[in-house]
Amino acid sequence: MSIILGKDDLAKYPFLEEAGTYIRESHFDLDDFNRSEFLHIIERATKRIEFALIQGKVFIDLEKYDIELFTFLVSLIMMKYIGEDSAIKKFSLLEAIRVERFLISDLLQEKDLRKKNLIISKIFRELFQLDVELDAKNKNLFKMNISDYLQRATPFNEVEWKLINRAVDNGYVYLDGDETVRLIRYEIYTLMYNRIKNMNITKIPEQIKLHATLVKNKLTPSIKYARRISDLPPCIKKALELLNKSENLPHSARFMLATYMLSIGKSVDEVVLLFQNAPDFNEKITRYQVEHLAGKKGSHTKYTVPSCCKLVNENLCYATIDCKGITNPIQFGRKK
Ligand code: SF4
Repeated sequence: MSIILGKDDLAKYPFLEEAGTYIRESHFDLDDFNRSEFLHIIERATKRIEFALIQGKVFIDLEKYDIELFTFLVSLIMMKYIGEDSAIKKFSLLEAIRVERFLISDLLQEKDLRKKNLIISKIFRELFQLDVELDAKNKNLFKMNISDYLQRATPFNEVEWKLINRAVDNGYVYLDGDETVRLIRYEIYTLMYNRIKNMNITKIPEQIKLHATLVKNKLTPSIKYARRISDLPPCIKKALELLNKSENLPHSARFMLATYMLSIGKSVDEVVLLFQNAPDFNEKITRYQVEHLAGKKGSHTKYTVPSCCKLVNENLCYATIDCKGITNPIQFGRKK
C-alpha cells in the first residue's frame, strides 16, 4: 500500500511497524537515554507505568509523535526490567484499553474515509488478520464475516454478543465502532504482552533501570497481596484461578468474587482490575457493576457475600477441611 499513516496516528498507535521504522531511521542509540535531554521521556514513561500499575488507570495524555514513540519504547523496556508477570499483564491490559479509546474515536469521528479505511487496514487487517469493512451506506457501521465474528465473540458472556442478537445480512455481522474495537482487545493486549516478554536487550541504560527500580519498590503492597491469596477460601481461589486463565466465569461466580473482595476491604478499583483477564472484560461496565454491588450506585444497597449453602447449589463450592463449620466464605480463616 502506497499510502502511509500520518505522524499523529503513529503517536496513538506506536506498536505499528512504521513507528519502529521511524525509531530505527532516527539512528537513535539506547545509551542516549543516559543523557539528561532524555530524562523527561523516562519520567513520562514512569508516570505512564505508575498510572497503570499503582492507580489502575489508563494514561490518556497524548503528546507529539516523537515523544510518544520514545515514551512507549521506554515504558516497554522498564516493564521488561520490572519483570513481574502480573505487573506486565496489568500494564498490557491498560495499554490495550488506551489503544481502544483512540481507535474508537478514530472509527467514529474521522470524517476522511480514506484515512478511516487506512486505519482499519493497518490495525485490523495487517496486524490482526481481521477483515473489517465499512458499511456502504452507513459509514459508522462496520461489517465482518460471520466466522471471524464468532471466533472472537464466542468467549464473551453478555447476551448482546450472541449471534441471534446481532444484525446479520448476507454472511456478514454488523457492528458499531465500539463493538468492532472491543473484539480485538485481547489481541491488542497479547501484542503488548508479547512485545515486553520477547524483548531482548543486552544492556538497559542505567537511568531506565533506576526509574524502573523505584516503580518496582512501590509495587510491594500488591506483591504482598498476591502472597495472601493462599489464605482465601477455596471457592474464591478457584474463581481467581479461572480468571487468571482468561476463562469465562458465570455471573454467580463474578457476584461471589466481587462481593467477597469488597467485604474484605478491597476498593472498587482493585475489584475492577481483578476482572481484567475475563475474555469479555469491559472496564466501564465492570466498574458500574462493582460500584452497584458496593452500594455506590442504584439503590445504594451494599450486597453481601452469598452463603456457602447458596454457593453449593450454584456449583461454586470447592470445600476443603478448612471450611469445616463455616456458613459463609467471609468466615473462612477466622478461627486460624
Ligand atoms: S464451604 Fe463455603 S467457603 Fe468453603 S469453598 Fe465452599 S462456599 Fe467456599
